[in-house]
Amino acid sequence: MSKKKNNKMSNALLVCISVTLVAIIAMIAVGAYGLNNRDTVSYDDDDMSSLVSDVSSTEQTSSETTSTDVSSVSSEKETSSIVSSDTSSTTTSSDKVTSNTSLPTPDDDPFIGDGQTGERVCYLTFDDGPSGKNTDTVLKTLSDNNIKATFFVVGYLSTSKIKDVYNAGHTIGLHTYSHDLDELYADTDAFFNDLKKISDVVYQKTGVRSNLTRFPGGSSTAAMKSRLGADGFATVKETLKEQGYTYFDWNIDSGDTHKGTSKDYVINQVKKGIMSNGKYKDNVCILFHDIKKVTADALPEVIEILKDAGYTFKTLDSKCYNYAFK
Ligand SMILES: [Zn+2]
Repeated sequence: MSKKKNNKMSNALLVCISVTLVAIIAMIAVGAYGLNNRDTVSYDDDDMSSLVSDVSSTEQTSSETTSTDVSSVSSEKETSSIVSSDTSSTTTSSDKVTSNTSLPTPDDDPFIGDGQTGERVCYLTFDDGPSGKNTDTVLKTLSDNNIKATFFVVGYLSTSKIKDVYNAGHTIGLHTYSHDLDELYADTDAFFNDLKKISDVVYQKTGVRSNLTRFPGGSSTAAMKSRLGADGFATVKETLKEQGYTYFDWNIDSGDTHKGTSKDYVINQVKKGIMSNGKYKDNVCILFHDIKKVTADALPEVIEILKDAGYTFKTLDSKCYNYAFK
């Protein structure tokens, strides 16, 4: 009896020891997993820093969408007036299209005057800023050349710099506060709420209300239509007009946000863009992004080329030629 009991007890002790061992092994395993998790966290930290340093890449994405949109619209034959993006521009998301490198002809480009007026006017426009030293460099180059330009600003970067741009004598236009297509084009109210937000920021910084706008990616874009629908798109345009706004697109894309862009690429895009059938266009409205280093680097030479071609520089206003995609 006592032997049996002893056996039972030693069995119980064995079970107990086994359970404890299993528990210890389990704890070691959990500990190791925890360490691995910490490694994962440190990876995330790395990812975070790459995200932070990659603000421009977000810009790039939106800007790539811009160039893609232009291409896609071109392909829809809605923007025959637009110089098509170069084939090296990236396509993103659902807007994938084949880019077209052919230049517009005088017949399909209302901005081409074939030199009849004898006056060549250039509107330099800068989107998606202002921010950082690239904007500063752009402002310095413009100042050195005594040129005034038009800046379509956003509200999520260095809004304090909006005042610097304005005080330097440039024209401020509204490029929306968020530049977030999903947010902006959720519905027409969302768009106008956002527009009011950036209008208020500009008013706070400069004391003036801008009546100039530029849609992120331009008007008539697939991005805009696919979100708002044709009716919503028409309503936005109509309401803008009723509220006294004029929106502007462009007829030359400098390509400063195209993938693989470079200083020479931008210079070449402008060189190609101002020509049509061997003649200079009378009126050109060029799309740049002042937050891009390549833009800051290329601008002095671009200005030189435009000056040599006889262009005078003006800022957009509600009375000047309405550069809008058809
Ligand atoms: Zn933009």
